[in-house]
Amino acid sequence: MNENYIKIESKSRSENIASIRVGITSFLSTINIHFDELMDIKTALSEAVSNAIDHGYGQEDTESIVTVEAWIRDEEKIIIKVIDYGKGIEDIALATTPAYTSKPENEHAGMGFTIMESFMDEVIIDSKINEGTIITLTKTIKKRKSNSKKVE
Ligand code: ATP
Ligand code: MG
Repeated sequence: MNENYIKIESKSRSENIASIRVGITSFLSTINIHFDELMDIKTALSEAVSNAIDHGYGQEDTESIVTVEAWIRDEEKIIIKVIDYGKGIEDIALATTPAYTSKPENEHAGMGFTIMESFMDEVIIDSKINEGTIITLTKTIKKRKSNSKKVE
């Protein structure tokens, strides 16, 4: 198996979401990935990282750490883990119900998990109260013919 890996650690600040997104999309761009699939993964990743910052820690806490790890297996299977050590999710079934949000006052639509599930093949939620949450996002990208041409 050919596997590539990257890890990004960030303070739990909303202004770091863009840097995480750029870092991970840049890593994924090392393989021959279709633009649409890259955008889908980027959107799902943003939702998971926003949740870690807004819900795991809460926007007042800007000093905690969000960790994002990504793997590329055999240039086609992408696995991303978004980890926070925050408050955890009490009721996962409720949290993943479309349009459910625990923070309706903060312009949350309750669509983050629905978006992640529609853009990725699999979304695994592993959460413990007062310990934190690990969201694992996986997607196997479509095989593409190589763009590169060997010049001889
Ligand atoms: P939106 O994503 O549309 O802004 P939202 O974040 O409330 O709204 P989801 O992303 O679907 O909606 O999350 C649903 C709920 O799950 C959240 O309101 C929150 O209560 C809980 N939740 C999600 N991620 C976490 C997390 N990392 N830690 C603790 N609770 C979380
Ligand atoms: Mg959300």
